[in-house]
Amino acid sequence: MSENTTANKSKNFIYEIIDEDLKTNKWGGKVHTRFPPEPNGYLHIGHAKSICLNYGIARDYNGKFNLRFDDTNPEKEETEYVESIIEDVKWLGADFRNEVLFASDYFDQMYLWAVELIKKGKAYVCDLTADEIRATRGTLTEPGKESPYRNRSVEENLSLFERMKNGDFPDGAKTLRAKIDMASPNFNMRDPIMYRIVHAEHHRTGNKWCIYPTYDWAHGNEDSIEGITHSICTLEFENHRPLYDWFLDQLGVHHPQQIEFARLNLNYTVMSKRKLLQLVQEKYVDGWDDPRMPTISGFRRRGYTPEAIRNFAEIIGVAKRDALTDISLLEYAIRDDLNKYAQRAMAVLKPLKVVITNYLEGQVEELEAVNNPENPEAGKRLVPFSRELFIEQSDFVENPPKGFHRLVPGGEVRLRYAYIIKCEEVIKNANGEVVELHCSYDPETKSGTGTSNKKVKGTIHWVSAKHAIDAEVRLYDRLFTVENPAFEENWLQHINPNSLEVIRNAKLEPFLKNAKKGERFQFERNGYFCVDTKDSTEHKFVFNRTVTLKDSWKK
Ligand code: ATP
Ligand code: MG
Repeated sequence: MSENTTANKSKNFIYEIIDEDLKTNKWGGKVHTRFPPEPNGYLHIGHAKSICLNYGIARDYNGKFNLRFDDTNPEKEETEYVESIIEDVKWLGADFRNEVLFASDYFDQMYLWAVELIKKGKAYVCDLTADEIRATRGTLTEPGKESPYRNRSVEENLSLFERMKNGDFPDGAKTLRAKIDMASPNFNMRDPIMYRIVHAEHHRTGNKWCIYPTYDWAHGNEDSIEGITHSICTLEFENHRPLYDWFLDQLGVHHPQQIEFARLNLNYTVMSKRKLLQLVQEKYVDGWDDPRMPTISGFRRRGYTPEAIRNFAEIIGVAKRDALTDISLLEYAIRDDLNKYAQRAMAVLKPLKVVITNYLEGQVEELEAVNNPENPEAGKRLVPFSRELFIEQSDFVENPPKGFHRLVPGGEVRLRYAYIIKCEEVIKNANGEVVELHCSYDPETKSGTGTSNKKVKGTIHWVSAKHAIDAEVRLYDRLFTVENPAFEENWLQHINPNSLEVIRNAKLEPFLKNAKKGERFQFERNGYFCVDTKDSTEHKFVFNRTVTLKDSWKK
């Protein structure tokens, strides 16, 4: 692809490497990246960073981007995960030409290449158990011990390897190991395992194979077969790179360049798939797509947008050193995006009834409200106003602290898009709790057209009682109370007990009854919300709070 040109030199160090490669014509002008998930869990926001990076590079250089399942471990992998991953990658907007690739499709080629290494005297069948191999690996200061099986003849190795493949041996009885250097300062080079015997059914190849390649052996093969140019992975693979290079050099095949970058870690979040699986299995959350999960499916259900996640990936950038990213940056990106196009609405989460005593019974006015102050084209809508309304309980205080500008006994407040009202009487129940307010309104203060120039300090939202629709509203907060739960010994003890608050009788502006599943809104003063895609029905509306309007955790 000759039209590939320098994309954006300042973007990050990987772009600099690629720009240099294009200058020296290292790959004949090609740029080809991939995202290689193991289908053993749902994707999380860390994976999103990797997808945005790899896909972004392909897009910026007019190159190609592959979605490839690294499905080399039959015991933990499932089709459910494959399907969810495809959906998530598509949703994020990464274009893989609808070509879903599987490492398991390359098992035959990998086997042939392993045979080739045996023939070159570069691999051997070893009878040591996993424990024995570990015990003879040596230490940082001492070399490992060579396996007694290391010097088997090529013929014997070929025959044993074939028998491994044919299922002649039980799990763990033998491995195929690369013959490199037991004294290498890099542990990964001390005769690493290439194949294990595992009699397990694979989600795609069924029972065809009873030997499975290790990550280190398989990954470079996969990249090479697909013609990847830049194999981008996280930092923990940095000292696997010599092995990646060694395998491909021995085979003399297409040899992509591995480049490492720092993985994303988010505070107040756990990101390892093992921990996320535990949260799901032990029912700390309601499935992989629980809106509190840092999974892409959880974020989607919560109302996050792919644009916002991509912007977040841009903001945090790509580094060479691990760090902990503040989750408020992600929340900022979500707000910033939703603010641009979320339709505004009035919704009262914790209703307090207000009767406008001087407003005619049975009268209804349709008042104009702005749909989105950020976007004049979004236009206006009509909101019904009547004698009985709901306001937020928290917008009335009997004994207000200094500086409280909302409703107080005898005080005045403006109802958004409507009138100024005055609190005349406070009605309480037998327990002394405020259950209703009797107010008067001033007809001269109608928003926009009123003749009065009366001014009040506070404006509050409201809904008309008889027009309001009932909804369940779910308020989410961070799932953990500590910054770095993964570092805590008993990380499960740091789950935020208030990470979900369910409000069952919220009162919403009537037009919201036509909201579609997943549709997003700003409930004025309360945050951004979306219709829950799972639990919301025609008969029971369920809204999720996507994010608050301000960073509520900021000190
Ligand atoms: P875990 O260790 O939590 O199980 P993983 O990294 O092993 O996750 P994979 O399915 O192998 O999960 O990951 C697919 C790709 O996503 C890899 O290239 C990996 O480097 C990348 N990736 C995984 N986690 C992160 C992260 N937190 N930040 C950036 N990239 C990540
Ligand atoms: Mg992995």
